[in-house]
Amino acid sequence: MSDRKQSTIAIKGSVFHFVENPFKTDEERSFQYYENGMLVIKEGKVHAVGAFAEESIRLEPGIQVIDHSGHLIMPGFIDTHLHYPQTDIIASYGKQLLEWLQTYTFPREGMFKDAEYAESVADFFFDELLRNGTTTAQVMATVHKHSAEIFFRKAQERNLRMISGKVMMDRNAPDYLLDSPETGFEESLELIETWHKKDRLLYAVSPRFAVTSTGEQLKKSAELLNSRPDLYFQTHLSENRAEVALIAELFPWSKDYLDVYDKFGLINERATFAHSIHLEDKNYQRLSELKAAVSFCPTSNLFIGSGLFDLEKITMARIKLGMGTDVGGGTSFSMLKTLGDAYKVLQLKGQKLSALQAFYLATLGGAGSLCLEDKIGNFLPGKEADFLVMDFNTTPLMQRRMAEASSLQEKLFIAMILGDDRNIKATYIMGEKVHGD
Ligand SMILES: [Zn+2]
Repeated sequence: MSDRKQSTIAIKGSVFHFVENPFKTDEERSFQYYENGMLVIKEGKVHAVGAFAEESIRLEPGIQVIDHSGHLIMPGFIDTHLHYPQTDIIASYGKQLLEWLQTYTFPREGMFKDAEYAESVADFFFDELLRNGTTTAQVMATVHKHSAEIFFRKAQERNLRMISGKVMMDRNAPDYLLDSPETGFEESLELIETWHKKDRLLYAVSPRFAVTSTGEQLKKSAELLNSRPDLYFQTHLSENRAEVALIAELFPWSKDYLDVYDKFGLINERATFAHSIHLEDKNYQRLSELKAAVSFCPTSNLFIGSGLFDLEKITMARIKLGMGTDVGGGTSFSMLKTLGDAYKVLQLKGQKLSALQAFYLATLGGAGSLCLEDKIGNFLPGKEADFLVMDFNTTPLMQRRMAEASSLQEKLFIAMILGDDRNIKATYIMGEKVHGD
């Protein structure tokens, strides 16, 4: 561990990453793919990427070469929206959003009063992310200050690039989960001072959504954001129709749901709005103008029965977009499964999602949505070397189907439809293997 920053290592295998946005340019030019490739890592960052034949002769003698030949080396997945405290309510039966929260989420988040329980969930959560090749995530904690502290401490021990924040809720939740505009502000501020930009960690101001925060708390959230120029903001937006109707009752002065966040000054380029399904047409323009990001959470939208995401309107408006598993409303930590369900949601919507577009959203696109494209998301020199190694042939069916695939695009598509955690052969953080044998 101690000499990881000094060491240079080379990884051999098929190397794949994006250099452009396939939604904007010719897909074929959006990525680089070296079938016999090499990734060279120095001091935890990408030093070089290219064909094995060229890169290997430039290597200084004595450099360790790790051989992943036959497998795909690609940047780690980026999950732009999920809840670590909901790990243990995944696959809970039969509710839509507002009842889901009351029945499953709030009682479970109440258990995070117990720091020991929170620690055990955090450990499992990070193991599970890494087993699935997810190396960065934007994560909601609970209302308990220590739930965010535990999250950050565990992420720091693993040297992960993570974004999180203490949830703020001052109404419409059980008493045992409520803070107040003042305590929510104070506790968030203390967490920001301790954790924001500490090592690879970043803080997101996190009112759960406008249903559970009063105008006073949303005002305090903006005050927090304004206290430092580089803080993140995460919340939920227009996930479910009953939720949208409730917002109109709770904020009778608002023009629509997004207008609530807008009036309080909470929309900016470091803000992520999870779901964003039932939007007014003018909302797309507004999100784009203010450079805010949206997180598309297909497994959750299907499982909680929330609705079908409109990718075309998002991309037409050039809104920054990333993928979210939204565990535990979402049904899997696997980004491959999430991309597969994204494809199906869009089929129902009469829209398309190509394999390249999907993998872009899960890597460089997600990084861009979080203003982290200068640090993660692809293998340009200087980027932090967080990556996964994918095995395309983990089941008899995949082997059989892959044998017929001639292009990388076909293989990626089969992986996002048939794949899961078993395809993630190894995961590396800053050039160091943290999962796999
Ligand atoms: Zn969520």
